[in-house]
Amino acid sequence: MVAIMKTKPEYGAELVEVDVPKPGPGEVLIKILATSICGTDLHIYEWNEWAQTRIRPPQIMGHEVAGEVVEVGPGVEGIEVGDYVSVETHIVCGKCYACKRGQYHVCQNTKIFGVDTDGVFAEYAVVPAQNVWKNPKNIPPEYATLQEPLGNAVDTVLAGPIAGKSVLITGAGPLGLLGIAVAKASGAYPVIVSEPSEFRRNLAKKVGADYVINPFEEDVVKEVMDITDGNGVDVFLEFSGAPKALEQGLQAVTPAGRVSLLGLFPGKVSIDFNNLIIFKALTVYGITGRHLWETWYTVSRLLQSGKLNIDPIITHKYKGFDKYEEAFELMRAGKTGKVVFMLK
Ligand code: NAD
Repeated sequence: MVAIMKTKPEYGAELVEVDVPKPGPGEVLIKILATSICGTDLHIYEWNEWAQTRIRPPQIMGHEVAGEVVEVGPGVEGIEVGDYVSVETHIVCGKCYACKRGQYHVCQNTKIFGVDTDGVFAEYAVVPAQNVWKNPKNIPPEYATLQEPLGNAVDTVLAGPIAGKSVLITGAGPLGLLGIAVAKASGAYPVIVSEPSEFRRNLAKKVGADYVINPFEEDVVKEVMDITDGNGVDVFLEFSGAPKALEQGLQAVTPAGRVSLLGLFPGKVSIDFNNLIIFKALTVYGITGRHLWETWYTVSRLLQSGKLNIDPIITHKYKGFDKYEEAFELMRAGKTGKVVFMLK
């Protein structure tokens, strides 16, 4: 089978021919129908500092997936050949203090599928049975593969009440765009989006943003205050990882408002805690991964509701992996929403 493999500790990846893997005890083999590129895959491709310390080539890349079970390993129960599935990325231990309390998303011994193990940028992949999520047949593979990042967006947007709330989203990368779709489907209004890239501001509008702001050319806080009659937004959702966006969002959110932080900052961030968080009595949520498995139920039902406007977010659909280099370079240049490889 062909697979996109990180073959060497350097920039890039190679399309290689490898044997179809065999599922061991507690594992299943899936035939990939669709798989999508995540920011983490791009970091591995670029071989950034994080990748250099974490990834051990040679390794097949990728972790967002929709596929069909074609073989079941020994000891696996409740999963059958023919099941249409996706995969949760975090392989949790089930034994630590966090897991014992049902807080699997912060398992202290978590391993990441496609980061610490071979992944799904291949025709077939072996996945741990404990991480398999069964999909209803009416969700198409190009949507089903997006459930993992959609889970990030759902946990960010739905960490508190959202229907009828005014919202500021900073950053309209793939995750921020999914966040816009979730916020709109959940009845938020107005959804204001701050994003420097014109290409992504246009995508944000297509997904349903009510207002878009260029933070490099406009005064984000003033614009938000003008739109909200001087009140500020009820909810601030940070999807950019830009320290400046964090500060602007904290200024633009109304006192006693809600903040959810998903974006990862490049390092330590200096913030006026007293005036921007404590005296404003904000509720601030740090968001990591997605809740297992509650968030998967929410994501699946949102997709089945037909209310999520995610077609504009899938900007690139490739048949097979042949053009993987083009896909990664477009993503690096910020010229994409979600990129999906279709294998069926
Ligand atoms: P991305 O880098 O593609 O998107 C970030 C967007 O923010 C870009 O479109 C960029 O133009 C925009 N941006 C840059 N500066 C800005 C500013 N000052 N104001 C507003 N927008 C600005 O990333 P992504 O794949 O969409 O992921 C979003 C963030 O979420 C990243 O920081 C990523 O590392 C993080 N992340 C967190 C988790 C988690 O579990 N917490 C999981 C996955 C990704």
